[in-house]
Amino acid sequence: MTYIFGNWKMYLNHKEAIALAQALKAVPVRNDATVVVFPSMLSFAKVTELLGDTDISIGAQYTQPVSAGAYTGAVNAEMVKEAGGTYVLVGHSERRHIFGDNEAAVHNQFVSALEAGLVPVLCIGETQEDIEAGKREYRLKKQLMTALKDVSLAGTFIVAYEPVWAIGSGNPCLPDDADDVHGFIRSELKQYTDQTVPLLYGGSVQADSMLSYLEKDMIDGVLVGSASVKDTEFSRMITS
Ligand code: PEP
Repeated sequence: MTYIFGNWKMYLNHKEAIALAQALKAVPVRNDATVVVFPSMLSFAKVTELLGDTDISIGAQYTQPVSAGAYTGAVNAEMVKEAGGTYVLVGHSERRHIFGDNEAAVHNQFVSALEAGLVPVLCIGETQEDIEAGKREYRLKKQLMTALKDVSLAGTFIVAYEPVWAIGSGNPCLPDDADDVHGFIRSELKQYTDQTVPLLYGGSVQADSMLSYLEKDMIDGVLVGSASVKDTEFSRMITS
C-alpha cells in the first residue's frame, strides 16, 4: 500500500477548496494507494460531502484534545469522526512552532485521536539547528517517546517524518537520506508497538519527485503540502 496525503493547510478559501475537491472527484485514484486530503475546518464538511463517493478519504489538520463542552473555537476528534473524517494530523511542525503545541499537547492530541477512532498521523522532524548540533536522532527519538509513551497502541497510526528545514523550503531531504532516517524511525518504533506502522516522508515533495521517495524500502508514502493544492500536480500524484 502507498500513502499519498495532501495537507491543504490554510492555503484555500472555501470556494477554492470546493473547486479543488470537485477537480479531484473526477480523478481515478491508483488502486494501490490510500489517498487522504486534509482541508481546513471551514471547508471540512463540504469537502467530505463532495468526496464522499470517491476513493479519497478526509482528515483534519488539527483537533483539540478536549471533550465536548465550553471550548470556544475548538473542534475535537469525536466531531471530526462524526462528520466523516478518518485521519488527523498530530504534531505538525507548524502547530509545534507557530501555535506552540508542546510535547504534552502533542501526546494528548495523539491519545484523544486514537480514543475517538481516528487514525493519527504523528508528524516528527528535526530543525536545522538540531542537525547542526548533531541532535537529529535525539530529536526524533524524543518526539516519538513523548507522543507514544504509555499509550495503548491498539488502533492504527501513521508516522510522518517531516524535517522542519524541508517543509515549504523547496529544499527536500533527499530520498537516500530520508530512507535512512525512516529506517531509524522504524527501529525506534519497535519498542512501542508490534504493528507495522506506515511511514511517510513530507517536505517539499512535488509530483516529479514523489516516485523517488516511494521506491525507497523504508518509505511507504508522502505527505504533501503546497503541491497538494495544485489540482493538476496532486492529480498526477494520485492517479495511476
Ligand atoms: C507539510 O507541511 O506537511 C509539507 C510537507 O509541506 P510542503 O510539501 O509544502 O513542504
